[in-house]
Amino acid sequence: MGTKVFIAQPRGFCAGVVRAIDAVTASIEKFGAPVYVRKQLVHNNSVTDALSASGAIFVDELDHLPEGATVILSAHGVAPEVYEDARRRRLNVIDATCPLVTKVHLEATRYAREGRPIVIVGHRGHEEVIGTLGYASADADVVPDIAAVERLELPVGAAPAVITQTTLAVDDTRDTIEAIRRRFPAVITPAHDDICYATQNRQAAVRELARSTQVILVIGAANSSNSNRLREVAEAAGVRAYLIADLSELRTEWLHGVDSIGVTAGASTPEHLVDEVVSYLRSRYDASVETIEVTRENVTFSTPTPVTRFKRSRPQQAAAQESVVRVPAESKEGAVLTEEGVRDGRRTQ
Ligand code: SF4
Repeated sequence: MGTKVFIAQPRGFCAGVVRAIDAVTASIEKFGAPVYVRKQLVHNNSVTDALSASGAIFVDELDHLPEGATVILSAHGVAPEVYEDARRRRLNVIDATCPLVTKVHLEATRYAREGRPIVIVGHRGHEEVIGTLGYASADADVVPDIAAVERLELPVGAAPAVITQTTLAVDDTRDTIEAIRRRFPAVITPAHDDICYATQNRQAAVRELARSTQVILVIGAANSSNSNRLREVAEAAGVRAYLIADLSELRTEWLHGVDSIGVTAGASTPEHLVDEVVSYLRSRYDASVETIEVTRENVTFSTPTPVTRFKRSRPQQAAAQESVVRVPAESKEGAVLTEEGVRDGRRTQ
């Protein structure tokens, strides 16, 4: 029997990343180069290199930008002070914050207004959490895992409100929230998950991939939260998994004696990087290629104003020459969203 390559579906670009990239390209078209982008926009060098070549300049902060310059704020969202800073500097702001991150900001704002202690499940140094902290009360706690829950110093009987980063591992986050609930039974959690549809669907797909493969290659940047979680979810399912930025990082010794290889990609990974890896595996191992699909996504977000009149691109997900094995979403444990559910970021099962 020859080598088989199984590709996860969904994989790669989510609606928030497509929207952020569109915001930059449309801004360049409308306002002319250069336009400025605060932070990395999305966590993938291949994407940011291409945008740089088109006329985007990436900056860490808004200092030194010329008055009137156009600046795009990244999909990860920013704290309110950043908007205020941009207003003071008279910048033309295009806000590419993903609407599903904005939803978390609104929750944080409401809980802060109610005067509740807030616990954010996530990673303190991540840009999304830095932004969300700006909407929560100044003394909000950030807990990455169960061990950190034990160190929370809230008063006995406190009723903290919990919100989460959008790109966490579904199972670990559920366990962390349960640990908070054990210590603070009156805890308040959001009515719907903060972990976004794209993160949940890609994790469901990689769990399914793990059933049929001996090794899984996750294509994504080392600083991409959702890509790192995909590798961890694959390993938790009992399969060796490696995170690679692109084909150049693939080591063939990982594949010695292996006849079934899984491939997936994080939400900020462009499809051409997947194509390169799959083409290589196909030619080197004479491999056949199948897609394992757990659900179909049909989610789009409108491009941020004032650049909405430009035509939007769509994620390139369908790879030619693949046969498709559909797995009913309902049969999967964990969360898979239907199309209606994702429009506002809701889980529907
Ligand atoms: Fe939005 Fe989720 Fe994509 Fe982040 S990973 S940009 S929250 S859809």
